[in-house]
Amino acid sequence: MTISNSSVPPSSAGAAALPRIAVLATGGTIAGSAADAANTAGYKAGVVGVDQLLAAVPALSSVARLAPEQIASVDSKDMALPLWTTLAQRINTLLASDDVDGVVITHGTDTLEETAYLLHLTIKSDKPVVLTAAMRPASALSADGPLNLLNAVTVAAHASARGQGVLVAFNNRIHSARDVVKTSTYAVDAFQSPEIGALGWVQDGRVEFQRRVLRAHTLASEFAIGAAWPQVEIVASYAGVSRIAVDALVAAGVRGIVVAGTGNGSIHQSLQQALVDAVARGVPVVRSSRVGSGHVMRNGAAADDALGFVGAGALNPYKARVLLMLALAAGVTDAAALQKVFDTY
Ligand code: ASP
Repeated sequence: MTISNSSVPPSSAGAAALPRIAVLATGGTIAGSAADAANTAGYKAGVVGVDQLLAAVPALSSVARLAPEQIASVDSKDMALPLWTTLAQRINTLLASDDVDGVVITHGTDTLEETAYLLHLTIKSDKPVVLTAAMRPASALSADGPLNLLNAVTVAAHASARGQGVLVAFNNRIHSARDVVKTSTYAVDAFQSPEIGALGWVQDGRVEFQRRVLRAHTLASEFAIGAAWPQVEIVASYAGVSRIAVDALVAAGVRGIVVAGTGNGSIHQSLQQALVDAVARGVPVVRSSRVGSGHVMRNGAAADDALGFVGAGALNPYKARVLLMLALAAGVTDAAALQKVFDTY
C-alpha cells in the first residue's frame, strides 16, 4: 500500500499554533563530546544536556513548542531494562495529556532499534513518537545530531506521522521501529530497513510517507510496559559451536532463549540438541537469523513443529528478544501461542 503525505511545516503560523513536542533525552553520541573536533570515535557519550542540544538548533522554535526532559544520560550500549520501563511509562503519561502532541527521544545508536521496537509495542497512543540519534558527537566537525534532531521534531510535529507506530528519523529517512537496524559502525547513514526500506523521508521541513506499517503496534498491541522483565538471552550458531552456553543458561533459570541462527535460522546440530533439551525443560526457544536481512521460514531450515521452536519471521535476534520478553511477561509461554505473537507483531 502506498500513501503520500507531503507538506511544509507550520512555520508561518503563530508560535501558539505550533504543535507541542516533548523532547526526552537519554544520552548517546548525539549528546557526546570529545576534546578535539576531529575526533569522531574516542569521545564520551551522553554528557551534553538536553537544553544544550536544543540550543544548538535555533530553527526548532519555528517547528514546534518544545518541552525538554532529561530522562537519562547513558551510552546506549549500557541500556538497562528499568530505564526502558521509566521511558515508556513517561511517554505514555505525556501522550495521555492534551498538552502534548508528540514525543521525540534522543538516544544512542547502539541499542536504538531495541528501544524503538519496545516502545512500538508498549506506547498506548497514536500520537507521533520519533527516536533520533547521531553517529558523530556534538563536538565533532559536521556533527549529524543537530539536523537529525530538527528532522525528528519536524516528523513528530507533522500530522501524517500519527498512527504510524514508533518512528526513527535518521539521516533524512523515516523508518519504522519494527524494521530499522543499525548497519554501520561509523557511517553517518548508519540505519537501514533491510528488505522493506524506509517509510518515507524528511528534508527541509517537508515530510513524506510512502508506505505504512501493516503489523500491529501501539494502540493495537496487547502488550503493556511493566516493571517485570523475564530473563531472555541470545545465543548464536556458528562453525564448531558447543552446547555449553545453552546448558548454562537453562541451569541459570533463563525464561527464554533466542537463537541467532545461520542463514534461514539454521542451527548447528550440537546447539540444536541443546535447544531441544531446553524446550523440554520449559524454556521457549525462538529461531531468528544472524544474517541481517530476510526472514526465517517456519519449518524451513528447522522442523519447528516437531522441535517445539518458534519462528521469529523478519525480526532480528535483538528485536525478537524484546518481543519474547513482553510475551513472557504477559504470561504467553506455549510455543503455538508464542508463534501467533510472532506472526502478529
Ligand atoms: N555508544 C553510543 C551509544 O549508543 C553510540 C552512538 O550513540 O552512536 O550511546
